[in-house]
Amino acid sequence: MLITVLGVAAIVGLLYLLCYGGFEGPVDWVMGTSSHGDRDHQIVALTFDDGPDPVRTPALLAALDQLGVKATFFVVGAAVDAHPDVTRQIVAGGHELGNHTYTHRYLPMARSKAVLRELAATDRAIERATGTVPTIARPPYGGRSPRTVQAFARAAKRLVLWDVNSFDWRGKSVPQVVERVLERTRPGSIILMHEARDGGEATIEAVRLLVPRLRARGLAFATIGDL
Ligand SMILES: [Zn+2]
Repeated sequence: MLITVLGVAAIVGLLYLLCYGGFEGPVDWVMGTSSHGDRDHQIVALTFDDGPDPVRTPALLAALDQLGVKATFFVVGAAVDAHPDVTRQIVAGGHELGNHTYTHRYLPMARSKAVLRELAATDRAIERATGTVPTIARPPYGGRSPRTVQAFARAAKRLVLWDVNSFDWRGKSVPQVVERVLERTRPGSIILMHEARDGGEATIEAVRLLVPRLRARGLAFATIGDL
């Protein structure tokens, strides 16, 4: 009996570690990661991961500028090194940068040293490109174990997740992405999107449709730092 219980607990624990991404769990309750802002304020944050991309990111920046929205970009260090000019454009547009590791690796199984290396290499890339170092970071796939969270804290990074996953990366159509985000967004929500991927044009189109509809609900947009 005891062995069965321990076995089930071990499997659940392993699944928790392996499948982790996006939803809050014990790691977050204990370690205070952020997956949303204050529910009493009518403010939400759009966040864009995995860029910058030399074509799609500037297109998104132009759209955000037209819409008058400031957003947050969790950039990958290797892409920052490849496109420092685009990284500068993000900052010049008044948006916030976050650290999304250098190689976009899944971190829960990584040693603390490796996590710190990923964060430091990305900080250096962002600093070379923009002269600034971000204070926020997001683990790829939302993957985190207690060790990951501790390493982020040691690197003085606030670990920021999301409570609304647009699933834009799953190849959903623009209306599907829009409906999914509208259904799930509440005051304080952090919305996860990806403009830099193949097909990221759909994400940009979804943003154009989402912003006026969320504003019609009385919601305003802010960066993570301002949320
Ligand atoms: Zn990512």
